[in-house]
Amino acid sequence: MPFSHHSHSGQFCAHAKDSLESCILEAISKKLRIFCLTEHMPRAEPRDLYPEEVELGLTPQDLTNRFAEFYTTAVALRDKYKEEITILIGFEVDYIRPSMLAEIERLQETYNFDMFVGSVHHVDEIPIDFSEDVFLKAISTVEALDTGADSPETYNNGAKIERFPEIQVTQSTGEERLFEAYFDTQYSMLTALKPPVIGHFDLIRLKCSDYEVDFTTMSNVWEKIVRNVKFISEYGGMVEINSAATRKGWKYPYPGPDVLQLMKEQGVKFVLSDDSHGTAQVAFGYEKCLDYLEKQGVEEVWYYEWIGWERDIQDGILRPEDRYLPKINANCVERKSARVKDLRGIVSE
Ligand SMILES: [Zn+2]
Ligand SMILES: [Zn+2]
Repeated sequence: MPFSHHSHSGQFCAHAKDSLESCILEAISKKLRIFCLTEHMPRAEPRDLYPEEVELGLTPQDLTNRFAEFYTTAVALRDKYKEEITILIGFEVDYIRPSMLAEIERLQETYNFDMFVGSVHHVDEIPIDFSEDVFLKAISTVEALDTGADSPETYNNGAKIERFPEIQVTQSTGEERLFEAYFDTQYSMLTALKPPVIGHFDLIRLKCSDYEVDFTTMSNVWEKIVRNVKFISEYGGMVEINSAATRKGWKYPYPGPDVLQLMKEQGVKFVLSDDSHGTAQVAFGYEKCLDYLEKQGVEEVWYYEWIGWERDIQDGILRPEDRYLPKINANCVERKSARVKDLRGIVSE
């Protein structure tokens, strides 16, 4: 009975494959019990379109329309397959500049979500997980903004880059400086949104020179990580063990062992996510994730369960209002846990 708290489909995400329904059917065949649909939030600024969206000629209005279509499709599919799998509907955050907060609030006012994934994919507006070249550009952008000078690096497609006030200027340079700015951006996102699930906590390692870099050796970076993890532990956010890293060449999922051990010490709860972008990636790498958790001494994973269905099953009556889930609250979504060793061998790859 594994779970995924983070997924995309080719129907609504330009860099993914396959229809939403085929992804759900794959999740059912892999015996997933909880499958969270978390398409990227629509972005309102043309300069925030992903390269593949630009290639397709999409506009921010197209993204808004497509998200609306995602939501209605997801609600219908949740109902269609409710006997076989619990579908939770959410979205994945993009946290690019301070004005994103208003965009996220607008989205949350428009739709009822069961959960969402709080992620950071940009630092000072530059993507950090796209390619090595863009990663290097992110470093030079952070360094340029640190100086306070008005240089070409401080503009993004003609507009002055808007930095999050939480990004503290330090004396560091290069990768280490980008790590710091990333975790400051993440802190800004965490404190503003308190996301129920925190997405790929250490994504910043993906395009750096060595993903096995030990963050405890960089005192500024580590201090920020400790601050973020303590905050997550205090408000009760759950961090995903995200298997996407294993299909990008890592030996283990996000987050790496230095961060995972800290989280464990701080009592942070973990959830499983495949961050799948198509049927081939549903529950991909889960045995590796479970190996990793056992090796690291994590014995329990958590998941979000929608308890509305259980109420239906108990009294046998499906109420019309139960077809539309209310916003996440203690009455309709509950946190439950499963033992890592009980999840072994369930998912066939
Ligand atoms: Zn992501
Ligand atoms: Zn994602």
